Amino acid sequence: MRMRPRSIRARDTVVAAIIAALVWGVTAVGVDFAVRTIVRADLLQRTQVDARRVSGGVRDGTLRGPIPDDSGGRVLVQVVEPGGLVREATPAAAGRPPVSRLWPSPGLRVRDFTECRGSWPHRRCLVAEAIRATTAPDSVVVYAAEPMPSYLVNGLLEGLLAAGVAALAGLAAWITWRVVGRTLGPVEAIRAQLAEISATDLSRRVPEPPGEDEIAQLARTANATLDRLESAVGRQRQFASDASHELRTPIAGLRANLEDASMHPEDNDLPAVVEQALHDTDRLESIVTDLLLLARIGTGGTVAQEPIDLSALAGAEIGRRTFQVKIEKELAHGVTVRGVRMQLVRLLGNLLDNAERYADRVIAVEAARDGEHALLTVTDDGVGIAPADRERVFERFTRLDTARSRGAGGTGLGLAIAREIAEAHGGTLRVEDDARGARFVLRLPLAPE
Ligand code: ADP
Repeated sequence: MRMRPRSIRARDTVVAAIIAALVWGVTAVGVDFAVRTIVRADLLQRTQVDARRVSGGVRDGTLRGPIPDDSGGRVLVQVVEPGGLVREATPAAAGRPPVSRLWPSPGLRVRDFTECRGSWPHRRCLVAEAIRATTAPDSVVVYAAEPMPSYLVNGLLEGLLAAGVAALAGLAAWITWRVVGRTLGPVEAIRAQLAEISATDLSRRVPEPPGEDEIAQLARTANATLDRLESAVGRQRQFASDASHELRTPIAGLRANLEDASMHPEDNDLPAVVEQALHDTDRLESIVTDLLLLARIGTGGTVAQEPIDLSALAGAEIGRRTFQVKIEKELAHGVTVRGVRMQLVRLLGNLLDNAERYADRVIAVEAARDGEHALLTVTDDGVGIAPADRERVFERFTRLDTARSRGAGGTGLGLAIAREIAEAHGGTLRVEDDARGARFVLRLPLAPE
């Protein structure tokens, strides 16, 4: 069974009340003890003075008649004979039985004590001193006694202290309840808003309390997360719609050709139709392959990374191809990164495909170390990319309005894939300034030696 309350507010309140009760309880016990000690010492001191004065009088025989009382009847003094007869007394103590039966022995003539009679609520206690006047066997005993104040006898002091402890614990609980309630108010507001946002639309934001405290930071973080979520969802939606749009054009073309061939077989050259249909299917296939690749990059933490020599990889990829233009290589030694070989081959392949498509006469490929990074650049001497388009070309399905873009029939996904791969490897891929044409720069962290 769980006894802990579910709400933080209730839990904190209970803890505060318990701590306050413990602390104030210990304090109250101390106060009780101190009050009793001080009061008793004070009473005893007065009874001692009277007892000693009177026993002195008994010993030197100067005590005659009723004992004078300067305490206003508070201190009771009696001189009692061995038989229990009260020989002399102060006016307040006259005509009463002896205040105590305690009879000091000759060896211990002076005794201090507290004596109580009756039961609650009529209980009375006396603080007393008894002095045996002499060591003689028939010596009288002088008693001086004073009643203890009633609040020490009937439990009033303890009752008040307990009430005080309870009140202070209650105060601590109340303050905690209020303070925690005020602190957690914004958390509840954030939670309620988040619950609604996840149920309705992502464009809403949670309330941000002013200040820099943890709750304000929580709200800000929640809103930043919502920003990212919203734009990710937006991008996904845009991507899906772009992808469908992109697939629709070749499908429509394919369908038009096939319909035309089936309706007018006599006007069509069947092998040519099939040839065109195969071409369209190829294009569809390459779009779908690219889309699948894009969806997979960066999501699989499972793909094995291995140390890869970028220069060797670039050399092999260039060697595998035949170029229509001149190719210049400048590949340094020891440019090693950690990565997925297939993906890096794909990245470089995309850059080389583009470079070859746009280059006039020459492509330059360079691999080098740059501080903590490996650098791989692919530069061509074609039309280049205007600064305003240098980010746009990395977006999915972007094709700049140059003649070659349109004619060559790329999927428009090549650079998006390349950048995604670079980022999945903890690196960057950017277009940089170049005097001749387009210059793509890949920066990857070097593998630890
Ligand atoms: P595509 O399949 O069209 O090549 P990419 O994502 O590879 O798609 O490229 C996007 C666009 O960026 C291209 O259509 C082209 O307009 C532009 N681009 C890419 N590489 C170059 C380059 N080397 N020189 C000039 N423009 C380029």
